[in-house]
Amino acid sequence: MSASPFDAAQLHVFETALGERRLELTVEFQRLADTFDGVQSSRSDGSADGAHDAEASSLRTEWSRMSGFQGEAVEELASIDRALQRIVDGKYGLCVRGGERIPDGRLEIKPAADLCIACAEKAAARRR
Ligand SMILES: [Zn+2]
Repeated sequence: MSASPFDAAQLHVFETALGERRLELTVEFQRLADTFDGVQSSRSDGSADGAHDAEASSLRTEWSRMSGFQGEAVEELASIDRALQRIVDGKYGLCVRGGERIPDGRLEIKPAADLCIACAEKAAARRR
């Protein structure tokens, strides 16, 4: 028996949404990694004089955007994987903290959500 408030058909919809988001993130991640590789290799075959300062600064910008996205993407991928695991465990749609039911509307916007609104607000308040 599963404790999840959703039936198999509903779970399948969420599972599909999670899978699509996961793919999207993976593709974007790869695209950024390729872009960064390109920036790096085009730089290594140039001469290392002062004319490359602008390029170096754009490399730094690119790198910080890349690592910022990387951190977020890694976090989101992990939360998607946890959500997929909760589907397997039959706990999808329940708050991981208090076990309350997470509202459908919240899951539709954010299928990887693992906290009910009250717990999410408490968690956000602590981070401030
Ligand atoms: Zn909760």
